[in-house]
Amino acid sequence: MFEHATCWIDGELVPAEKAGISVFDHGFLYGDGIFEGVRFYNRKPFRLARHLKRLSQSAAALQLGMPLSLTELEQAVAQTIAASTLNDGYLRILVTRGVGALGINPISCTRGSVIVIADKLQMISEEQRAQGARTIIAATRRSTPDRLDPRIKSLNYLNNILARMEANFARVDEAILLNERGCVAEGSAENLFVVKDGAIVTPAVTEGALAGVTRGTTLELAQVLGIPAREGVLTPYDLYCADECILTGTGAKLIPVREVDGRPIPCPGPVYQQLATAFSELVARETA
Ligand code: PMP
Repeated sequence: MFEHATCWIDGELVPAEKAGISVFDHGFLYGDGIFEGVRFYNRKPFRLARHLKRLSQSAAALQLGMPLSLTELEQAVAQTIAASTLNDGYLRILVTRGVGALGINPISCTRGSVIVIADKLQMISEEQRAQGARTIIAATRRSTPDRLDPRIKSLNYLNNILARMEANFARVDEAILLNERGCVAEGSAENLFVVKDGAIVTPAVTEGALAGVTRGTTLELAQVLGIPAREGVLTPYDLYCADECILTGTGAKLIPVREVDGRPIPCPGPVYQQLATAFSELVARETA
């Protein structure tokens, strides 16, 4: 299970099967911590600066003192990739609140832990990607910004996991979450784009979406390709009547959607194909 995993914990490389943190770490006890998922290609992390910026923003929102500077985090990532047996893989960077007394009060946690894991991650097979994903709209709603802001990439993913379990129960590939107003927010671990009349539309982050790095890259690529792109409010109707629908994420890359709640969507469509090709080319250029 761990044969390709490399783990870096608070300054040291640790054998994967022995890698662990204290049971008194509030990251474990209460989900009090943050994380990032980053892909590396050719041993080079893709768009690391953007991921580390989002990590520092998640930390700021949770008033979580970062135990390492930006440069030290970059060094930890470099050390982990260097120790990995993989040329292409996935990195998980975690910052926890750290060890503290039982009880939720973070005041007793004096120093957080930083963990970097390099491993393989394949969300779907390439055959599945070519066919497209079957999805449902989950009954579970995205948590609202006035409760837990979905822009914080925290260690508490239960909201997303409940939606993902609905997809498993429905025997489809992924779940789409709506926000409190019934408008589309995102997938359980991906952002979502709809193609309509040649333009791509994605929910704004204030609709309950994470500010996805792949989402940002997709918007940039659309501009380069001359595909009109905008943020907009989407309802289930817009998904059911979409010309195309695309999920984006670091783990997922770009996945075309072929079905939402039993309604077929053309897949893989021409806009997906253009964007996916441009995405692979960009990755190849930036990690050459
Ligand atoms: N939304 C959620 C809830 C996610 O967990 C992810 C994966 N990090 C994304 C969207 C996609 O973001 P990114 O492209 O930065 O991986």
